[in-house]
Amino acid sequence: MALTYNSPISFSGKFILTFLAVLFICAGCVNRQTEMDGLEKDLVSHEYRLEVHFIDVGQGDAVLVLTPSKTMLIDAGPRDGNAAGYLQSVGVTEIDIVIATHPHADHIGGMPDIFRSFPVREIIDPGVMHSTLTYTRYLELIDKLDIPYTEGRKGMRIDLCTDVFAEIIHPSCPDEEFLNDASIVIVLVLGNLRVLLTGDIERKSEEILLDGNNDFVASLQSHIFKVPHHGSPTSSHVDFIEAVNPELSIIMCGLHNSYGNPHRLTLAALEAAGSDVLRTDLNGHIVIRTDGESYVVEVERDAPPLPSLININTASLEELQLIVHIGPERAKQIIRLRPFESADDLVRVDGIGPARLADIKRQNIVVTE
Ligand SMILES: [Zn+2]
Repeated sequence: MALTYNSPISFSGKFILTFLAVLFICAGCVNRQTEMDGLEKDLVSHEYRLEVHFIDVGQGDAVLVLTPSKTMLIDAGPRDGNAAGYLQSVGVTEIDIVIATHPHADHIGGMPDIFRSFPVREIIDPGVMHSTLTYTRYLELIDKLDIPYTEGRKGMRIDLCTDVFAEIIHPSCPDEEFLNDASIVIVLVLGNLRVLLTGDIERKSEEILLDGNNDFVASLQSHIFKVPHHGSPTSSHVDFIEAVNPELSIIMCGLHNSYGNPHRLTLAALEAAGSDVLRTDLNGHIVIRTDGESYVVEVERDAPPLPSLININTASLEELQLIVHIGPERAKQIIRLRPFESADDLVRVDGIGPARLADIKRQNIVVTE
């Protein structure tokens, strides 16, 4: 059953939330029941034992985990993503654990702001170096503020409150040559509910995780899945998605980002696996609240309808004009020049140079088969 969307509900002084669905979890199976009542509670309500906030920081990751005892932040988005502002808006005043999954700027660029805005009791990262100014600033601040540091490795368990814990299931021995694959991967567990947070891992790490898929905590099957690497096709291979078998997948990326995230292959793999998909670029902030038996999903806004994919080898004259920079004349020319091997091949059309081609690829709707 697809998640059912209701009209947005206005919250005084907070962002607009849309109530999506309530899912009831029993051992090994999930009965999904859709309810249409609006939720009118404070964002930091502890009626639920675990809240996971997928913060819309543009192109990057920042995930806030709240429990009645401890607060954890996994990544802080890019420098201009305002993760610190979001934490302040939901009432966070201190952070017990900050995890930097890996040292790329779209994950640690917002850390200085976090370190300056909140007392941080512990920082965990994979211990791999990076040669950027962003990374140097991050290290200098940890040092200056004397924040206790731990290297995150597979097997580490972080107790967040009596019945909520996080377990690091990757990496065992990260390689500085492959920073995305050095990402710390975490399973959050409360009762029967599991949330898998994958940083920017790529194929190599997916294979390692699939090999280690042999006990409860290390098994990948999860109700909620933070899709790796912003939905890039470097990750989310079919066997990995099948092992995770998510009900709800969350893609964290910026609107019209220059990487073309999320890739249509990733979206297709998630759809084939029967997972619902929410995206920070389209839905804004996404909040999951759970007591371990059921969970509710709230989004800042409804996603606009997505344009369908357009096959430039078969589309009609009218359909071709839904592609950015394609008017009637260029549409006619596309039909004359068929077949096209890829979107890049559109440079054969008059007036389509590298800049317009980049816009077309960013629109992410052109296919050739
Ligand atoms: Zn990233």
